[in-house]
Amino acid sequence: MSDGNTLRITIDLAALAGNWRRLAAAAEKAECSAVVKADAYGTGIEPAVGALSRAGCTTFFVATPAEGERVRGVTPSAVVYVLAGFDEDWASCFARSDLRPVINSVEQLDAWQHFSGGAFALHIDTGMNRLGLTLHEALEVTRRGSGVAPRLLMSHLACGDTPDAALNREQLALFEETRTLFPGVPASLANSAGIALGANYHFDLVRPGIALYGGRFAGELPPLATVVTAEAQVLQIREATAGETVGYGATERLTRASRLAVLGAGYGDGYLRAAGASDERKGAMAYVRGRAVPLVGRVSMDLVVADVTDVHSVHAGDFAELFGPHIPLDDVAAHAGTIGYELLTGLSRRAERIYTGAETH
Ligand SMILES: *Cc1c(COP(=O)(O)O)cnc(C)c1O
Repeated sequence: MSDGNTLRITIDLAALAGNWRRLAAAAEKAECSAVVKADAYGTGIEPAVGALSRAGCTTFFVATPAEGERVRGVTPSAVVYVLAGFDEDWASCFARSDLRPVINSVEQLDAWQHFSGGAFALHIDTGMNRLGLTLHEALEVTRRGSGVAPRLLMSHLACGDTPDAALNREQLALFEETRTLFPGVPASLANSAGIALGANYHFDLVRPGIALYGGRFAGELPPLATVVTAEAQVLQIREATAGETVGYGATERLTRASRLAVLGAGYGDGYLRAAGASDERKGAMAYVRGRAVPLVGRVSMDLVVADVTDVHSVHAGDFAELFGPHIPLDDVAAHAGTIGYELLTGLSRRAERIYTGAETH
């Protein structure tokens, strides 16, 4: 390995840009922004924002002001919204990097108007009980008069991933009602799954995250490309006999003479321990030399073992895909009892990150 790591994560920036273009087309008349919080879902804010900007994206959402500063370091002109909102401790950061808060409460609104008075988005909670003003608070705010003029009115769906959920329609109705309080203000409701719910969820701006990075979400959209591929180096091939066990806790006993490939990645890399296997429970799959192979036994901190008995050509030094084009990210996440979002954002800094498909123009 070039840099002495046994796990490499390849991020295809052309696929990321292509996914943004497809989502922008699916959003039709609405503007397509990009959600790049949590280090652009683990792909790296700087390269991701660079690729998305070159594709034509001009509005970004991050979770924290510190992330916003990193976005600003890449693009001098884009609009950057901070989902955490505003706190006076962050005033210099907002000013320095020309960030816009997503105002989530009356207190934040007061603080922002006191310390800056600049452009902001107003977040209305329409049924998630997370961040945002209640409809009642929004009404109070409008009674203050023309001083409160958000650049964007937004809300967030709790059940976008469940297209039939009644809450989607309830949130839509409440959001429509809120919009009448802010005539002429552009509106935004849809995350990735929300885009797939249909045009009446699109409003003026959509906010995809996971779909950009190739993660699965409910709904029918044009196929999106795999962006992130994780591959672990085969450190050793060993022969084991039937009846022996593999790994910590001896949780899996081999039922046949087996060839095992020991791979250099584990939960210390964010490859979740719960993705492992035991006698009772199948684990996730890996992919090597053209074949999908099952994990055997527990995932250790830095190692995981795959059964390659049926794949004759595997050697130490080969790379096995843990997820990517052959092993869907979300399948591995499902084996670990979680979602693609958590697997992507939990990948450690230890792994080597390789960027491909950078468009330079
Ligand atoms: C994370 C987030 C998104 C993006 O959600 P995805 O499901 O990843 O598309 C959009 N809007 C808000 C407010 C978010 O917190």
